[in-house]
Amino acid sequence: MANSLQLRAKSMARFIDIGVNLTDPVFHGKYHGKTKHDDDFNLVLERSRVAGVKSMIITGGSLRESQHALKLAKEHGFYATVGCHPTRSAEFDKFKGGPEAYLNALDDILRDNIKGNGRAVAVGECGLDYDRTHFAAPEVQKKHFRSQLSLAKKYHLPLFLHSRAAHKDFVSILREEGFGVNGGKEVGGNGGVVHSFTGQLDELAELMSMGFHISVNGCSLKTADNLTCAQAIHLDLLMLETDAPWCSMTGAHASKTHLNALPTLLNNLFFPGSVKPEKFVLGKAVKGRNEPCSIGGVAWVIQQLHPEVTYEELAEKVWKNTVTVFGLDELS
Ligand SMILES: [Zn+2]
Repeated sequence: MANSLQLRAKSMARFIDIGVNLTDPVFHGKYHGKTKHDDDFNLVLERSRVAGVKSMIITGGSLRESQHALKLAKEHGFYATVGCHPTRSAEFDKFKGGPEAYLNALDDILRDNIKGNGRAVAVGECGLDYDRTHFAAPEVQKKHFRSQLSLAKKYHLPLFLHSRAAHKDFVSILREEGFGVNGGKEVGGNGGVVHSFTGQLDELAELMSMGFHISVNGCSLKTADNLTCAQAIHLDLLMLETDAPWCSMTGAHASKTHLNALPTLLNNLFFPGSVKPEKFVLGKAVKGRNEPCSIGGVAWVIQQLHPEVTYEELAEKVWKNTVTVFGLDELS
């Protein structure tokens, strides 16, 4: 009896997925421009609700995607980020009117969408990605990462940051622009989160000392070293995300050992039965396409690494961090 009550309580844990790419066509059955199965966008959202996901922050990774993210956020009562991902930062230079016009266009979107339902709650996704410099050279990435920081200062918005294999340059730019202390509050900024963290322990320590929050997903829990880092995140600075449709947790990841202990009831909520796209039937998840409902699995692994809190306490702590940083007052 006590056990079943405990399980029910656990399934009631609530989440805000702070990094979800709901603009991706795969949620409508389209993969690389090819329709592989029926549109199941609403079923994806339904599965997330059943799994305790109360809200989401939809990632805007370019000018167009930010507009799309805001449209979805307004339709569904979620939130969005507005910015340009480092791998898309060449868009600044190709834009009609040049980089300044692109930045102004992002600025206009922010100005018009900073209040109310479905609003923009962060500047980003921006940062540096040196694993994928074939999309944009480091110099291009750096220039347009720096320019987006001005928007965070202007609107006092938190940053939604991406840093991959670029830590040194990443923190240098943040420091040069005044974000080296207290998340940039002295220069008009408002902190922020380094999402999908996959870095080293010393990098983690540096980001936390600068006043940034750290968000983890399945990609942050792939190796034993990843788990050591996840264990070192201060719970007051922790956030959770799925990065869906990316960053699924798989049986080959180090996280699997911890997921083995996940009760069946929760396992069914967070990792619903899936089929290959070719074998799709409405109501099933799709292999390799991550969904926001899996956030509870990320929370489970993190809790296993932080036994000083219960699963429910961890979820509530992360909820509070998220509401505070992004100013989601209606969820407090
Ligand atoms: Zn990212």
